[in-house]
Amino acid sequence: MKVGLVYDPVYLKHDTGQHVENAQRLEAIISHLEQTQLKQQLRLIKPRAASTEEISLVHDNQYISHIRDVAQRGGGWLDADTVTSPDSYQAAIYAAGGAIRASEAVMNGEVDSAFALVRPPGHHATSQRAMGFCLFNNVAIAAKYTLAKYKLDRVIIIDFDVHHGNGTQAAFYDNPQVLYVSTHEYPFYPGTGSIEETGSGAGKGTTINIPLPAGCGDDEYLQAFEQIIVPAARRFNPQFIGVSAGYDLHWADEIALMQVSTSGFAQLVKIITGLADELCRGRLVFSLEGGYHLQALAYSVKATFDVLLGNANIEDSLGQSPHRFKAPSITPLIKAIKEIHNLL
Ligand SMILES: [Zn+2]
Repeated sequence: MKVGLVYDPVYLKHDTGQHVENAQRLEAIISHLEQTQLKQQLRLIKPRAASTEEISLVHDNQYISHIRDVAQRGGGWLDADTVTSPDSYQAAIYAAGGAIRASEAVMNGEVDSAFALVRPPGHHATSQRAMGFCLFNNVAIAAKYTLAKYKLDRVIIIDFDVHHGNGTQAAFYDNPQVLYVSTHEYPFYPGTGSIEETGSGAGKGTTINIPLPAGCGDDEYLQAFEQIIVPAARRFNPQFIGVSAGYDLHWADEIALMQVSTSGFAQLVKIITGLADELCRGRLVFSLEGGYHLQALAYSVKATFDVLLGNANIEDSLGQSPHRFKAPSITPLIKAIKEIHNLL
């Protein structure tokens, strides 16, 4: 399997200081991929800057200029938890361009699948607003670009970050060409993502939210993937799958209260690669969102690459949650979502 890695040190230049979303995240991932000699199994793909026209597929021009101007003036806080530095605009246009390049490389057949290791992350960014550490919505921009450039009709975005991707949901809420499926802790930041949010107008039914109670681990996530995401994806029959890959649902990650392990991530990724192989000739692009425990993040991204490469052994040196508390039963929730979306 030819697996692409999109990365560039430009992503380290988005300087957030002591913020939890910082450059050390990517440094930890890259150094782990190097130490384990996994990096040499990957095709390195250089990102490019997304053009203003490409970013405006999702964001208002006024908002794009605002982000550029704030960076030019030296950076600053855009909301209570989103900070920028002088080079943040450059990093952000390369993050969007990285997700685009990953999609191009897969669509052109340069690689079978790809993972864009970018920052700032994207899934909270709306057309007019930076929030939740996100400036431009990398995955949404890449999906719109891919739909237009390759004249596709159906793209799925699977978002397993522990937070709901409110920006991505909003970008495609009335768009029947994009099925947005999210698993996320709920109630939790940013507050959106209830089961009743299912899309509007022509896009009614093409937003599927799986809001999970705190405490869910590998078993509950597998249940949600197998019982909701798999049948929904088969019914939608995508031509391309994009993934908002956040790793903040790992048990060691203190930003949220989920209990997923590195092995659990590998199992979820296996389900996703299975869907891509079955439904869309393997066309699959991952883009990094959250994940703030450096070791858990690095190990779990490596496990993701191992699955994409078809490597049989998944290393999980952190193991299962040591303070494992009883996970909630999500069976009634799964049933309710199936009913709402006619997945029975
Ligand atoms: Zn997150």
